[in-house]
Amino acid sequence: MHMPTRTEPLRQQPTRIGFERLAGSLALLLCCAAAVDAKQDAADEHSAPIVIAHRGASGYLPEHTLPAAALAHGLGADYIEQDVVLSRDGAPVVLHDVTLETVTDVEATFSDRCRDDGRFYAVDFTLDELRTLHVHERTGGDGRAAFPHRFPAAGAQLRIATLEEHLALIRGLNTSTGRDVGVYVEIKRPAWHRHQGVDPSPVVLETLARHGYTQASDRAFVQCFDPAETRRLREQLDCQLQLVQLIGSVSERVAGDDSPTMCSAEGLATIAEFAEGIGPAMQLAYGPLDGSAPPAPTGLIAAAHAAGLVVHPYTFRADALPPAYANRGYGALVRDFAAAGIDGGFTDFVDATRSALHARPVAAPAAGASAVMP
Ligand code: CA
Repeated sequence: MHMPTRTEPLRQQPTRIGFERLAGSLALLLCCAAAVDAKQDAADEHSAPIVIAHRGASGYLPEHTLPAAALAHGLGADYIEQDVVLSRDGAPVVLHDVTLETVTDVEATFSDRCRDDGRFYAVDFTLDELRTLHVHERTGGDGRAAFPHRFPAAGAQLRIATLEEHLALIRGLNTSTGRDVGVYVEIKRPAWHRHQGVDPSPVVLETLARHGYTQASDRAFVQCFDPAETRRLREQLDCQLQLVQLIGSVSERVAGDDSPTMCSAEGLATIAEFAEGIGPAMQLAYGPLDGSAPPAPTGLIAAAHAAGLVVHPYTFRADALPPAYANRGYGALVRDFAAAGIDGGFTDFVDATRSALHARPVAAPAAGASAVMP
């Protein structure tokens, strides 16, 4: 797996002026210290789990908007996630749900376009129609904010964006920053989509290919909850990108997702036939998280590694801590999972996650450093 590169913090880049003011022996010492520090940084980066921005920087901006993706890039994400559903005219749009009302003002604009169940489905709208909607912070069934302390519900002119637009944004930011942030695309409810007369997987793969994502060595993952679809991506649609089989907790199970079977050694061996990793609900990897007992590795991470699979659990949220970490805090949650051996994790809070993974004592200022400060 590719590991991210990172610009070294300023304190590890002694300036030319600084060196001129130092005696030879001191300069040598400083040089060695910086080299050791840089080596440590490189080692940390190499062994640290990758940080996947779950629906962009969704802890700070409405999920899956282009500003949320841009912020995730700026906060230091290694990968940025895009959930994909299709419009009526077959355009891949970046939305978590196949329905629209929990994150947009669709009821106000198209009040008569709901189905008999009262829901507004993205696949019933053309891309041009979807583009007229305003995106807001996620609300629950009662219309109240799902996360009350996040971005305010009203006021910002945020819009639904296509997969194409997200990929172009990330490519542009990679160019302007010199970083190489990857993409992590989820195919949402593929069987349901086909029942509606559209097929998301080929559209997603074609879109990724147009943006240069075609091979296992490219900075892209494709993920799906439906194991039949993940297998289809590899075996029938010839997807060479890294594939991740999502595994829901029992309460989140969707059609085709049989968590206990998939988490068994036999199930993991089956997944390894067509995928490079698993994305389990976090408590399947390390738990219990409900506070009923001290959490510990469940065995899933070791079993997945034994099957040759990487493990990227979801979802790390600093503002919705599991009861087991109510007192110890977000940093402890992230570090415990890292110590348990995860290879990456989905988070709404890229910055807090990076801080927890890379925290170590700040070195004392180098001798002479103050002389070069303005
Ligand atoms: Ca997702």
